[in-house]
Amino acid sequence: MKKLLLTFTLMLLASCEPPTQATIKASSSAASSAMAPSKWPASAFPLKVKVSTDFSDDEKFAIQDMGDAWNDSVNYQETFIDDDGDTAPKSNNLNSYVDSLIGVYKLSSWPSELPQTALAVTQIYGTRKNIGRSSEYIRIDHADILINYDNFDFTTDYSWGYDLQTIVLHEMGHLLGLYHDKSSVNESVMFPTITRSVNNRYPHTRDINNLKSKYGLSGSATSNAFRMPASTKALDTESDNEEEVIIQFEIMADGTEVKKIIKR
Ligand SMILES: [Zn+2]
Repeated sequence: MKKLLLTFTLMLLASCEPPTQATIKASSSAASSAMAPSKWPASAFPLKVKVSTDFSDDEKFAIQDMGDAWNDSVNYQETFIDDDGDTAPKSNNLNSYVDSLIGVYKLSSWPSELPQTALAVTQIYGTRKNIGRSSEYIRIDHADILINYDNFDFTTDYSWGYDLQTIVLHEMGHLLGLYHDKSSVNESVMFPTITRSVNNRYPHTRDINNLKSKYGLSGSATSNAFRMPASTKALDTESDNEEEVIIQFEIMADGTEVKKIIKR
């Protein structure tokens, strides 16, 4: 199998100023129609998510609450995320995240390969399936969330600052396979812009519909969500044309947004 490294970055703008039309337009231009939809196989749920032991209790509870927020958003038709206790912290060596353990990590030393202005990164290891077909998608095999405590501080108590819950909810959306939603910060937690004053701790209707549509859950309204084959059977009827990829979703603090794809 031909292997390649595909790095795809979508950034959540994090300036103190409200987004201008220019930045919204820049975000829209980075929307990737070339990016096939991504999803976990149904058998992967509930995802056993561990939280690094270097988070404080308040931070740990905040992170766990956001997993529950996604589960609750679909009335537990599917339990997407299950709190699975603690795990040891990891270093800034990105290679050390290639394991079978889905973790939320607090990095006091941010990897040099990642932009220093990234607030957080969700790194997804997946397999591109049905390449070149209209049915192309990325099967998610593994994912982690890395939060940049090297360059930023996060709050959990609604005080001024980057709201940890808001960022974790957004990143867990990526973890579940959601891409950015360009509607507005009031309509989607996946909107690619955030400010220090934003508290977005519950998925909105658009997010819920996108998630329901992706995983074939009932009650989803018609939307522009990514359409995926819902059944495991559909996922099993694949072509041999596939390759392994890594996707990185970044929340940025410097108001820029970049999309890059690296092959090797
Ligand atoms: Zn994002």
